[in-house]
Amino acid sequence: MDIFGNKEYKIARFFIENSDRNFNYIIWCCETGQCAVIDPLDAIEVLNVVRDNNLSIKYVINTHAHPDHISGNNPVIKVSMLSEILIHPLGLDYVAPRAKAIEDGDTVHIGKINIKILHTPGHCPEHLSLLLDDYIFVGDTIFLSGCGNTKFRGNPHDLYSSISTKLSALPDNTKILCGHEYSENNLKFALSIDPQNRETKNKLNEVKSRLSRSEFPLSTIGEERLYNPFFRLDNDAIINNLKSNYELIDDDPQSVFVKLRQLRNKW
Ligand SMILES: [Zn+2]
Repeated sequence: MDIFGNKEYKIARFFIENSDRNFNYIIWCCETGQCAVIDPLDAIEVLNVVRDNNLSIKYVINTHAHPDHISGNNPVIKVSMLSEILIHPLGLDYVAPRAKAIEDGDTVHIGKINIKILHTPGHCPEHLSLLLDDYIFVGDTIFLSGCGNTKFRGNPHDLYSSISTKLSALPDNTKILCGHEYSENNLKFALSIDPQNRETKNKLNEVKSRLSRSEFPLSTIGEERLYNPFFRLDNDAIINNLKSNYELIDDDPQSVFVKLRQLRNKW
């Protein structure tokens, strides 16, 4: 388990050893002990962390309603009658009971800390990202050197617009906390599209070495601009490669994004 944060709040990240390679998160206010659980899958592990740190669960926040992000909801909220599930209105039908809608621009308070809510559809229509200080919880919108698929109720045009208008607009030092650990495959795909990119090669070496020690890498929005092809839509080397080898016709950023997403689906 990794712990991030400062004197005011802590973030616990832990990896679930399933085939989907999920991450679960708990955010807590150090002064009050109130916490929010994000996308619980392994409820037993979540409740162990809650007990060990003497926390009270105020919210379960679901970035979206795919089964691997909500299936631990009920055992987690059963622990406290006062806790609630927070999800975008378009996800309400998938979760029950005690669920409340939150939308773009809302602020969620956990003890003394404030989390800003961004609506980032594309992986699915109800997808939310959560901003706490210089940490962004992106669910399945982006991953280290990649982005979410659009196979289950998703749309690549919406995903393009969420990434290019909302996530790309965050400061370079914003740390990305995503829903799955897919970094090695994503970097290998990135290298297949952008083979001369030294930053991608270096990050792949770093990621391989960390994973071999059972450590999980972290990246920032600024780093993603260097090696994530879905953030590099106006890069000449990528565009030329897609035109020469993958029948890219229009080279506007949205068409490049959609082509990259199609190629990643088949890769
Ligand atoms: Zn998902």
